[in-house]
Amino acid sequence: MKTVKRIIALVVLCSMVLLPVSAARGADGTGVPPEIQQKFLEDGGTVDYVDVTCMGPGYNGTYRHGRKKIQVQKGAPEDVLPHEYGHYIYHSTILRWDAEHRGYLTALHEFFKNDPRFSSENETFAVIYSWSCTGATGGEMREMVEYAEDLLLNTVK
Ligand SMILES: [Zn+2]
Repeated sequence: MKTVKRIIALVVLCSMVLLPVSAARGADGTGVPPEIQQKFLEDGGTVDYVDVTCMGPGYNGTYRHGRKKIQVQKGAPEDVLPHEYGHYIYHSTILRWDAEHRGYLTALHEFFKNDPRFSSENETFAVIYSWSCTGATGGEMREMVEYAEDLLLNTVK
């Protein structure tokens, strides 16, 4: 496990330091790939821009999986919408992840655990997903994101 952690640490460093400018993917300015947004709509998902989210002041975005409902506070930072899409993808696919990718997410959560944004594997995935959409990931983090997206879109057999 120590070796795995070292590899993960190295990959994270490389992703953040060496590959900071890999292209953002969405064409509409949100960074979220259009096929993911389309799938969300087909699943009955909604995105609402609100003055105050259902979680109250201090929460500039929320996602409720039961209702497939994203709320984004008006004027929220650009990574908030992709973060909430990350929760949608996580909840919709996590039970189907293979052991390799589950292990990778676990190791990333462990690696970032002192940062309060990474309070769970769910939050860890959402943060990394938002990075991938705003152009700040590469390497294995990007691969994990694309794996989960493929599962969502049913292209992994
Ligand atoms: Zn979150």
